[in-house]
Amino acid sequence: MTEAERPSAIGQALLAISDQWNLLILQRAFLLRIRRFADWRDELGMSESVLASRLKELVAGELLRPAPYREQGRTRTEYRLTERAIELWPMLVEIWSWERRWVPDRQGLSELVHDVCGNRTDVELGCAGCGQAPVAAHDTEIVRGMATFAQVAVPRHHRRTLRGKAAADPLSYFPETFDLLGDRWSTVILVAAFLGTRRFADFRAELDVAPSVLSNRLRQFRQLGVLAVEEPGYQLTDKGLDFFGIFAYVVDWAQRWYTGPPDTDLRVIHRACGQPFRPCSRCRSCGQELSRTEVHFAVPEGRFPSPRTRITVSAPA
Ligand SMILES: [Zn+2]
Ligand SMILES: [Zn+2]
Repeated sequence: MTEAERPSAIGQALLAISDQWNLLILQRAFLLRIRRFADWRDELGMSESVLASRLKELVAGELLRPAPYREQGRTRTEYRLTERAIELWPMLVEIWSWERRWVPDRQGLSELVHDVCGNRTDVELGCAGCGQAPVAAHDTEIVRGMATFAQVAVPRHHRRTLRGKAAADPLSYFPETFDLLGDRWSTVILVAAFLGTRRFADFRAELDVAPSVLSNRLRQFRQLGVLAVEEPGYQLTDKGLDFFGIFAYVVDWAQRWYTGPPDTDLRVIHRACGQPFRPCSRCRSCGQELSRTEVHFAVPEGRFPSPRTRITVSAPA
């Protein structure tokens, strides 16, 4: 692979996480502390072959690390979140928060509890550099560097089908989220829209995407209410712009954990302080910065066969 073909940092990050099953496997590891093959299989209703391929991929991507354990005299393998994966937790909370704001009929969504103030709360995006909050897309400037979109949209081998229990489980993300984050073309079209791409022809030229794929995704985005048609082309709606928080966490995480060819970094600058935007999540009730060990999700009762009332967003070491 030549330097020009090597994915940028964000491309590598998206390759690792913009897959529905990968996101759900990681999410269950966070929320339910799942570490074992059979527990993911039963919890998500996944086929064993799909689960095995995703675990392999997550291990290769250094998001899970295999650890042997003994059971009934035999040595088996469990999978623990790596430090790289653990740092995804604020992005997962941000996804929860976006769904809470924008997905209609959000009945049964779990509630975020801030253990420090004791309130059921929501998160507010802030700048860790200068302390300002809230920070929205229009408070920032996105700088693209020299990356081509070919270095951002890295082909995946999987098809994007989600079956089994996960699709209907209240703990799972909503289909709308997967429409934006669970598919490489969708995510990259969204990134292009954040970078200011407006016209169909420009999306097509930038992304080198088949016109049928592009019009299909743009139609889907309009149906989702994420893009609207407005001269001279497509414009992010408030709902689309609000996805910025998730996007900012992906960019931040990508920069800390992946290295692309020189000058291919996508950077987000916070205009108010002029620094690269380092997102942080604050409690809307008390204003404090949230830390992973001081929040938990409360799941509404009656949503599970066996009640799980307290789910901690923490990762076993
Ligand atoms: Zn700032
Ligand atoms: Zn609080």
